[in-house]
Amino acid sequence: MSIVYIVSAPSGSGKSTLVNELFKMVRNLDFSISYTTRPPRGSEKNGKEYFFVPKADFESMIASDEFLEHATVFGNYYGTATRFLREAEASGHDLLLDIDVQGAKQIKRRIPLAVSIFILPPSREKLEWRLRNRGLDSDDVIRRRLDTARREIENYEKYDYILVNNLLEKSADELRDIVLSERLLRSGIESSGEEKRRIDTAQACRLEFARERVQPILASFNP
Ligand code: ADP
Ligand code: 5GP
Repeated sequence: MSIVYIVSAPSGSGKSTLVNELFKMVRNLDFSISYTTRPPRGSEKNGKEYFFVPKADFESMIASDEFLEHATVFGNYYGTATRFLREAEASGHDLLLDIDVQGAKQIKRRIPLAVSIFILPPSREKLEWRLRNRGLDSDDVIRRRLDTARREIENYEKYDYILVNNLLEKSADELRDIVLSERLLRSGIESSGEEKRRIDTAQACRLEFARERVQPILASFNP
Protein backbone atom coordinates (compact mmCIF):
# COMPACT_ATOMS: atom_id res chain seq x y z
CA MET A 1 0.00 0.00 0.00
CA SER A 2 1.31 3.47 -0.85
CA ILE A 3 2.36 5.73 2.01
CA VAL A 4 0.68 9.13 1.80
CA TYR A 5 2.84 12.00 3.09
CA ILE A 6 1.16 15.33 3.83
CA VAL A 7 3.32 18.44 4.00
CA SER A 8 1.86 21.73 5.25
CA ALA A 9 3.50 25.04 6.18
CA PRO A 10 2.76 28.72 6.48
CA SER A 11 3.62 30.43 3.18
CA GLY A 12 7.29 31.42 3.00
CA SER A 13 8.53 28.76 5.44
CA GLY A 14 10.49 27.06 2.66
CA LYS A 15 8.12 24.18 1.90
CA SER A 16 8.55 24.26 -1.90
CA THR A 17 12.33 24.51 -1.54
CA LEU A 18 12.43 21.53 0.85
CA VAL A 19 10.04 19.43 -1.23
CA ASN A 20 12.18 20.08 -4.33
CA GLU A 21 15.26 18.93 -2.42
CA LEU A 22 13.38 15.86 -1.19
CA PHE A 23 12.49 14.75 -4.72
CA LYS A 24 16.18 14.89 -5.68
CA MET A 25 17.00 12.45 -2.86
CA VAL A 26 14.09 9.99 -2.70
CA ARG A 27 12.89 7.57 -5.38
CA ASN A 28 9.48 6.05 -5.98
CA LEU A 29 7.73 9.07 -4.55
CA ASP A 30 5.11 10.90 -6.64
CA PHE A 31 3.96 14.48 -6.20
CA SER A 32 0.22 15.01 -6.22
CA ILE A 33 -0.44 17.95 -8.54
CA SER A 34 -3.44 19.75 -7.08
CA TYR A 35 -6.28 21.41 -8.97
CA THR A 36 -6.87 25.07 -8.22
CA THR A 37 -9.04 27.95 -9.40
CA ARG A 38 -6.36 30.55 -8.66
CA PRO A 39 -4.50 31.98 -11.67
CA PRO A 40 -0.89 30.88 -12.35
CA ARG A 41 1.87 32.96 -10.65
CA GLY A 42 5.22 33.87 -12.20
CA SER A 43 6.62 30.98 -14.22
CA GLU A 44 4.04 28.40 -13.08
CA LYS A 45 2.85 26.04 -15.81
CA ASN A 46 -0.44 24.18 -16.09
CA GLY A 47 0.12 20.53 -15.15
CA LYS A 48 3.43 21.20 -13.37
CA GLU A 49 2.79 23.08 -10.10
CA TYR A 50 -1.02 22.84 -10.44
CA PHE A 51 -3.82 22.14 -12.85
CA PHE A 52 -5.35 25.59 -13.25
CA VAL A 53 -9.07 25.23 -13.93
CA PRO A 54 -12.15 27.50 -14.05
CA LYS A 55 -14.43 27.51 -11.03
CA ALA A 56 -17.23 25.72 -12.95
CA ASP A 57 -14.87 22.84 -13.86
CA PHE A 58 -13.72 22.54 -10.24
CA GLU A 59 -17.33 22.45 -9.05
CA SER A 60 -18.24 19.75 -11.54
CA MET A 61 -15.26 17.69 -10.26
CA ILE A 62 -16.64 18.10 -6.72
CA ALA A 63 -20.07 16.97 -7.93
CA SER A 64 -18.62 13.85 -9.54
CA ASP A 65 -16.63 13.05 -6.39
CA GLU A 66 -13.20 13.26 -8.03
CA PHE A 67 -11.43 14.77 -5.01
CA LEU A 68 -9.81 13.00 -2.07
CA GLU A 69 -10.05 16.37 -0.31
CA HIS A 70 -10.70 19.95 -1.28
CA ALA A 71 -10.77 23.30 0.47
CA THR A 72 -11.01 27.03 -0.06
CA VAL A 73 -7.69 28.80 0.60
CA PHE A 74 -7.28 32.58 0.25
CA GLY A 75 -10.64 32.66 -1.61
CA ASN A 76 -9.78 30.01 -4.22
CA TYR A 77 -10.58 26.32 -4.48
CA TYR A 78 -7.75 23.80 -4.10
CA GLY A 79 -8.15 20.03 -4.31
CA THR A 80 -6.33 16.69 -4.46
CA ALA A 81 -7.61 14.40 -7.21
CA THR A 82 -8.25 10.82 -6.06
CA ARG A 83 -6.73 9.55 -9.30
CA PHE A 84 -3.22 10.53 -8.13
CA LEU A 85 -3.45 8.08 -5.27
CA ARG A 86 -4.79 5.35 -7.58
CA GLU A 87 -1.90 5.96 -10.00
CA ALA A 88 0.72 5.92 -7.23
CA GLU A 89 -0.72 2.65 -5.93
CA ALA A 90 -0.71 1.10 -9.40
CA SER A 91 2.98 1.91 -9.84
CA GLY A 92 3.99 0.92 -6.29
CA HIS A 93 5.01 4.49 -5.41
CA ASP A 94 4.33 6.62 -2.37
CA LEU A 95 2.54 9.96 -2.73
CA LEU A 96 3.32 13.40 -1.34
CA LEU A 97 0.57 15.99 -0.91
CA ASP A 98 1.44 19.67 -0.45
CA ILE A 99 -1.82 20.86 1.10
CA ASP A 100 -3.12 23.20 3.79
CA VAL A 101 -4.31 22.46 7.33
CA GLN A 102 -7.96 21.92 6.25
CA GLY A 103 -6.90 19.41 3.60
CA ALA A 104 -4.55 17.62 6.00
CA LYS A 105 -7.44 17.12 8.41
CA GLN A 106 -9.65 15.59 5.70
CA ILE A 107 -6.89 13.24 4.52
CA LYS A 108 -6.13 12.07 8.08
CA ARG A 109 -9.81 11.27 8.49
CA ARG A 110 -9.92 9.23 5.27
CA ILE A 111 -6.41 7.73 5.49
CA PRO A 112 -5.46 7.43 9.18
CA LEU A 113 -2.04 5.95 8.30
CA ALA A 114 -1.08 9.05 6.28
CA VAL A 115 2.08 10.72 7.63
CA SER A 116 1.67 14.43 8.30
CA ILE A 117 4.57 16.88 8.48
CA PHE A 118 4.32 20.54 9.49
CA ILE A 119 7.14 22.83 8.46
CA LEU A 120 7.80 25.88 10.61
CA PRO A 121 10.03 28.90 10.04
CA PRO A 122 12.58 29.52 12.84
CA SER A 123 10.76 32.74 13.87
CA ARG A 124 8.32 35.38 12.67
CA GLU A 125 11.23 37.69 11.92
CA LYS A 126 12.93 35.11 9.69
CA LEU A 127 9.63 34.32 7.94
CA GLU A 128 9.12 38.00 7.15
CA TRP A 129 12.67 38.25 5.85
CA ARG A 130 12.19 35.19 3.59
CA LEU A 131 8.92 36.52 2.21
CA ARG A 132 10.51 39.90 1.44
CA ASN A 133 13.67 38.35 0.04
CA ARG A 134 11.65 36.02 -2.24
CA GLY A 135 10.38 39.19 -3.87
CA LEU A 136 7.03 37.78 -5.05
CA ASP A 137 4.60 39.66 -2.82
CA SER A 138 3.59 43.26 -2.11
CA ASP A 139 3.81 44.69 1.45
CA ASP A 140 0.08 44.14 1.83
CA VAL A 141 0.22 40.49 0.82
CA ILE A 142 3.22 39.92 3.11
CA ARG A 143 1.31 41.39 6.04
CA ARG A 144 -1.64 39.11 5.27
CA ARG A 145 0.62 36.04 4.94
CA LEU A 146 2.23 36.80 8.34
CA ASP A 147 -1.15 37.16 9.94
CA THR A 148 -2.35 33.90 8.39
CA ALA A 149 0.90 32.20 9.47
CA ARG A 150 0.20 33.07 13.10
CA ARG A 151 -3.17 31.28 12.91
CA GLU A 152 -1.87 28.32 10.88
CA ILE A 153 0.99 27.66 13.27
CA GLU A 154 -1.50 27.08 16.07
CA ASN A 155 -2.47 23.84 14.27
CA TYR A 156 0.95 22.27 14.65
CA GLU A 157 -0.30 19.77 17.24
CA LYS A 158 -2.45 18.03 14.61
CA TYR A 159 0.66 16.82 12.76
CA ASP A 160 2.84 13.75 13.33
CA TYR A 161 6.14 15.50 12.65
CA ILE A 162 7.39 19.08 13.12
CA LEU A 163 10.26 20.30 11.01
CA VAL A 164 11.82 23.66 11.87
CA ASN A 165 13.39 24.95 8.64
CA ASN A 166 16.42 26.79 9.95
CA LEU A 167 19.46 25.55 8.00
CA LEU A 168 18.29 24.41 4.58
CA GLU A 169 20.60 21.43 4.15
CA LYS A 170 19.88 20.07 7.62
CA SER A 171 16.12 20.49 7.18
CA ALA A 172 16.17 18.77 3.77
CA ASP A 173 18.02 15.83 5.33
CA GLU A 174 15.49 15.69 8.17
CA LEU A 175 12.59 15.64 5.70
CA ARG A 176 14.30 12.85 3.74
CA ASP A 177 14.86 10.89 6.97
CA ILE A 178 11.20 11.23 8.00
CA VAL A 179 10.10 9.86 4.62
CA LEU A 180 12.65 7.03 4.57
CA SER A 181 12.19 6.04 8.20
CA GLU A 182 8.43 5.62 7.73
CA ARG A 183 9.19 3.27 4.83
CA LEU A 184 11.72 1.38 6.94
CA LEU A 185 9.42 1.04 9.94
CA ARG A 186 6.53 -0.20 7.79
CA SER A 187 8.68 -2.68 5.87
CA GLY A 188 9.20 -4.77 9.02
CA ILE A 189 12.80 -5.43 7.91
CA GLU A 190 15.51 -4.96 10.54
CA SER A 191 17.43 -1.71 10.00
CA SER A 192 21.16 -1.32 9.40
CA GLY A 193 23.39 1.27 11.14
CA GLU A 194 22.69 4.13 8.71
CA GLU A 195 19.00 3.30 8.65
CA LYS A 196 18.89 3.40 12.46
CA ARG A 197 20.44 6.88 12.35
CA ARG A 198 17.70 8.01 9.96
CA ILE A 199 15.04 6.59 12.27
CA ASP A 200 16.59 8.50 15.23
CA THR A 201 16.69 11.75 13.25
CA ALA A 202 13.05 11.33 12.26
CA GLN A 203 12.07 10.37 15.78
CA ALA A 204 13.48 13.66 17.12
CA CYS A 205 11.07 15.50 14.81
CA ARG A 206 8.00 13.67 16.14
CA LEU A 207 5.46 16.00 17.74
CA GLU A 208 6.03 14.69 21.25
CA PHE A 209 9.76 15.49 21.07
CA ALA A 210 9.37 18.78 19.18
CA ARG A 211 6.99 20.60 21.52
CA GLU A 212 9.73 22.44 23.42
CA ARG A 213 11.39 23.62 20.20
CA VAL A 214 8.08 25.03 18.99
CA GLN A 215 7.39 27.24 22.03
CA PRO A 216 9.84 30.10 21.22
CA ILE A 217 8.61 30.08 17.60
CA LEU A 218 4.99 30.40 18.72
CA ALA A 219 6.03 33.16 21.12
CA SER A 220 7.70 35.11 18.29
CA PHE A 221 4.30 35.22 16.51
CA ASN A 222 2.46 36.36 19.64
CA PRO A 223 4.67 39.06 21.17
P1 ADP B 1 7.00 28.23 0.65
O1 ADP B 1 6.94 27.19 -0.44
O2 ADP B 1 6.86 27.64 2.01
O3 ADP B 1 6.06 29.38 0.44
P2 ADP B 1 9.65 28.87 -0.44
O4 ADP B 1 10.21 27.50 -0.65
O5 ADP B 1 9.22 29.66 -1.64
O6 ADP B 1 8.48 28.85 0.64
O7 ADP B 1 10.75 29.69 0.39
C1 ADP B 1 10.58 31.07 0.70
C2 ADP B 1 11.92 31.78 0.53
O8 ADP B 1 12.81 31.37 1.58
C3 ADP B 1 12.63 31.46 -0.78
O9 ADP B 1 13.25 32.63 -1.27
C4 ADP B 1 13.65 30.39 -0.39
O10 ADP B 1 14.77 30.41 -1.25
C5 ADP B 1 14.02 30.80 1.03
N1 ADP B 1 14.38 29.69 1.92
C6 ADP B 1 13.83 28.45 2.01
N2 ADP B 1 14.40 27.72 2.98
C7 ADP B 1 15.36 28.52 3.54
C8 ADP B 1 16.30 28.35 4.63
N3 ADP B 1 16.39 27.21 5.31
N4 ADP B 1 17.11 29.39 4.94
C9 ADP B 1 17.02 30.56 4.26
N5 ADP B 1 16.17 30.79 3.23
C10 ADP B 1 15.33 29.80 2.88
P1 5GP C 1 -0.34 28.63 -3.17
O1 5GP C 1 -1.48 29.29 -3.86
O2 5GP C 1 0.54 29.63 -2.44
O3 5GP C 1 0.43 27.71 -4.10
O4 5GP C 1 -0.94 27.68 -2.05
C1 5GP C 1 -1.73 28.18 -1.02
C2 5GP C 1 -2.03 27.08 -0.01
O5 5GP C 1 -2.87 26.08 -0.60
C3 5GP C 1 -0.79 26.34 0.49
O6 5GP C 1 -0.92 26.22 1.91
C4 5GP C 1 -0.88 24.98 -0.15
O7 5GP C 1 -0.29 23.95 0.63
C5 5GP C 1 -2.39 24.81 -0.22
N1 5GP C 1 -2.79 23.80 -1.22
C6 5GP C 1 -2.23 23.52 -2.42
N2 5GP C 1 -2.87 22.53 -3.01
C7 5GP C 1 -3.85 22.14 -2.17
C8 5GP C 1 -4.86 21.11 -2.23
O8 5GP C 1 -4.98 20.34 -3.16
N3 5GP C 1 -5.71 21.03 -1.15
C9 5GP C 1 -5.60 21.85 -0.08
N4 5GP C 1 -6.47 21.65 0.93
N5 5GP C 1 -4.68 22.82 0.01
C10 5GP C 1 -3.82 22.96 -1.03
